[in-house]
Amino acid sequence: MFGSHLSIAGSMLTALDEAQRLCFDTVQVFTKNQQQWAAKPLDPAMVSDWNARVASLGWGDRMVSHASYLINLATHQDELWRKSIDLMTDEIERCEALGIRYLVHHPGSFVGHTLDTGLARIADAYRELFGRTRGYQTVSCLEDTAGGGSTIGGPFEDLARLRSMIIDKTGEPPRIGYCLDSCHMHAFGHDLSTRDAAEKALDHFHATCGIENLRVVHLNDSKGAVGSRLDRHAHIGEGTIGAPDLAASGFAAIVNHPAIIKIPKILETPKEDRADGVPWDIINRARLVSLQTGADSETLVGEWLATHPVTPSTPKSPKPSKPAKSAVEAKPQAKPATQAKPTKPAKRAKPAPASNARVAKPAKSPSMPAKSPRDSGKRKIDSSRRTKRRD
Ligand SMILES: [Zn+2]
Ligand SMILES: [Zn+2]
Repeated sequence: MFGSHLSIAGSMLTALDEAQRLCFDTVQVFTKNQQQWAAKPLDPAMVSDWNARVASLGWGDRMVSHASYLINLATHQDELWRKSIDLMTDEIERCEALGIRYLVHHPGSFVGHTLDTGLARIADAYRELFGRTRGYQTVSCLEDTAGGGSTIGGPFEDLARLRSMIIDKTGEPPRIGYCLDSCHMHAFGHDLSTRDAAEKALDHFHATCGIENLRVVHLNDSKGAVGSRLDRHAHIGEGTIGAPDLAASGFAAIVNHPAIIKIPKILETPKEDRADGVPWDIINRARLVSLQTGADSETLVGEWLATHPVTPSTPKSPKPSKPAKSAVEAKPQAKPATQAKPTKPAKRAKPAPASNARVAKPAKSPSMPAKSPRDSGKRKIDSSRRTKRRD
């Protein structure tokens, strides 16, 4: 089943609206402004509307949230560690209230210390987190990373060790799983450019972590080469994993792997439209579906277009002010979404040193960011920064 990280700008319900418009079967959201430590409590009326809507969609067992990038459970700095535990507690409580089954987060960064210390800090944090949230259903999913700098989560062996340490401290194996991000895997060095290589990578994951513990997959192509440690997401088929032959790439292995066929697979690609006005989420989804069914992806896109007319995007020249605007605003929700807006981000987002850039920097976007990383108006601008961190 496929989904996308979508914006909650305005209301969390907009993410559900947009997921439906884009024909997804699930969605990933932030449950709060991901760039702020403090969050207002969820509005009970919204929670009630959300839960009713989720029930009608039948998505209760498959929704995903991504935790704030501010959180670093691996830090040896006590103040940051405490704040991270408090914020992570809030993330877990929000997911529980919203019936979101999976909460994805990056393990953290041990900057200035050692891997062993970082892993121990995370495990200690979990003892407290699960102690505060006894009996909750939300499953924490440790996401693999591109492994730059002191970022934890590149090697599968480290993820396996971490989960095992958390289980030792908490005694709750069902509440801790994994999320694999295809861009991160490839950038770290788990080659996904061919089906064979990807199958080997998944076998390696199974041998170390147990594929039955994989609860969520992030499907992103990679701008960086295999082993580059560069965390830059690209549209499916437009990066070093899926180009030039998507059908022969590792994406085909991932979306058809029998053990994970039913778990949520979330796009964290840039939320933008192709020149003909079609949201890239539609194109990316069609390309993934084509790998499962053999259908031609552009035919699938055409079928969507038949019932969802779009306006071709206008050139970005400053002149067409009005037209441009309408084009953009017209589909506000469509793009806002996700996090990953690799594309634009590239420009503004600070390229950061590839290393631990992502973990360490929580995105510096203004206040609203989090929620909808890209809300309509500023979507194009802000998205960039958010994007990067997000995955
Ligand atoms: Zn990423
Ligand atoms: Zn990701």
